[in-house]
Amino acid sequence: MTLVDTRTPNPDYFIAGATGDWEMVVGLEVHAQVTSQSKLFSGSSTRFGEPPNNNVSFVDAAMPGMLPVINEECVRQAVRTGLGLKAKINKRSLFDRKNYFYPDLPQGYQISQFKDPIVGEGEVHLDMGDKVGEVTIGIERLHLEQDAGKSIHDQHPNMSFVDLNRSGVALMEIVSKPDIRSAAEARAYITKLRTILRYLGTCDGNMEQGSLRADINVSVRKPGGEFGTRCEIKNVNSVRFAGQAIEYEARRQIDILEDGGKVIQQTRLFDPKTGETRSMRSKEEAHDYRYFPDPDLLPLEFDDAFIAELAKDLPELPDEKQARLVAEYGITKYDASVLVASRVSADFYESVARGRDGKLSANWVINDLFGRLAKEGLDVRSSPVDADQLGGIIDLILNGEISGKIAKELFEIVWSEGGDPAQIVEKRGMKQVSDTGAIEKIVDEIIAANPEQVGKVKDKPSMVGWFVGQVMKASQGKANPQAVNKILKEKLGL
Ligand code: ADP
Ligand code: MG
Repeated sequence: MTLVDTRTPNPDYFIAGATGDWEMVVGLEVHAQVTSQSKLFSGSSTRFGEPPNNNVSFVDAAMPGMLPVINEECVRQAVRTGLGLKAKINKRSLFDRKNYFYPDLPQGYQISQFKDPIVGEGEVHLDMGDKVGEVTIGIERLHLEQDAGKSIHDQHPNMSFVDLNRSGVALMEIVSKPDIRSAAEARAYITKLRTILRYLGTCDGNMEQGSLRADINVSVRKPGGEFGTRCEIKNVNSVRFAGQAIEYEARRQIDILEDGGKVIQQTRLFDPKTGETRSMRSKEEAHDYRYFPDPDLLPLEFDDAFIAELAKDLPELPDEKQARLVAEYGITKYDASVLVASRVSADFYESVARGRDGKLSANWVINDLFGRLAKEGLDVRSSPVDADQLGGIIDLILNGEISGKIAKELFEIVWSEGGDPAQIVEKRGMKQVSDTGAIEKIVDEIIAANPEQVGKVKDKPSMVGWFVGQVMKASQGKANPQAVNKILKEKLGL
């Protein structure tokens, strides 16, 4: 890869050292498991959580004479992903053998793509907040390859087992350019990439299950200077760990350089228990993979019509959805970004906001509903309050039938008991009292009962708030606050 610096150094990201400021440079290789029924070159199932070696065909077990046959759906998924990353799609690509021995890789080589990947350069946009703004992270390439199986060392005192269920499952390796400049950007990048893959339905993004994992390349330099020597942290499987690993690794390299040492290019592992990275192997010990074109597979070729067909069915992606929500519903970019974090949450919002006040709907969906769901550890899909019910609550506010305060109580009732908000309000007498006669009556009572306060309020008009509170209390929160204010001011002569 030819390294090009696309970024202007940002002082917010500088890391202070004994000899001055430093800047980190990060590039990510993300392995994303392709969502498909069967494996990349065999008909075996890809289902997760099956008994060991349940999903293994002769091809996956590399029996002599078995031949790989490309799974067209995996090719479609890779092209869809490329389109979602606004990337160049290569109509001709090649499968190569990457040769290395591994106990859970029975072929003795991995079928991958080396010089001619299926997808070329693309990009991912990050919104890094007011200070840094919008950042574009370049994608170098995306290629298809086989996953390996899993060795199991903790089931027997002196034997290891191997589970080949994952062996041969299709992976997309998505390689970024070294455009990332902070741990926060790396976290945002992984999160955004995962969101895009989930929107596309090309990878489920479940990092706990290993469907998405990142190799993280980190180097440090003086701000804006030459790229430094990098270390690669292998197989990080959480967004938080990625951030921790990067912070630790950058600091480790700065300390070495400031001590007059040299960073040695090596592969490292992150230990979540200690928050540290440690060496796995140096460049000298690196494998010579002896890549060569796999003689069992023809070049992978398709035409423009194949790409156009897939492009036609692409869903609306997060960036476009965010821009549309801002334009259509008048909400802030920030609120829109929260809503588009998943397709279900954006859909939920739109069902609520359609035909209603966009901003008020966003407040209720994000603060009240999502806030409550997060507290209970629930997902939008299992929300006890559905879009119709939340919309119903908002309608009652907009019609002036209930106050915002009563609406919160109503939300609690719908949350725990269910039911139609309008009926609940009717049945339990929760309607806001806007009838001035009724409010006047209460105001008169409060004034009559508090002559001392009435005497004071003439000199201290801000005390009217106290009166409003008394009236609201007497009406059990149901009096229309605007009406209360108006009537009080008249009667108190303010
Ligand atoms: P390899 O295939 O040997 O791992 P590549 O040149 O393809 O090497 O780069 C792999 C990853 O390392 C890419 O994501 C790239 O952005 C990143 N990278 C390359 N050089 C640097 C560097 N000096 N600092 C940080 N990341 C780097
Ligand atoms: Mg690498």
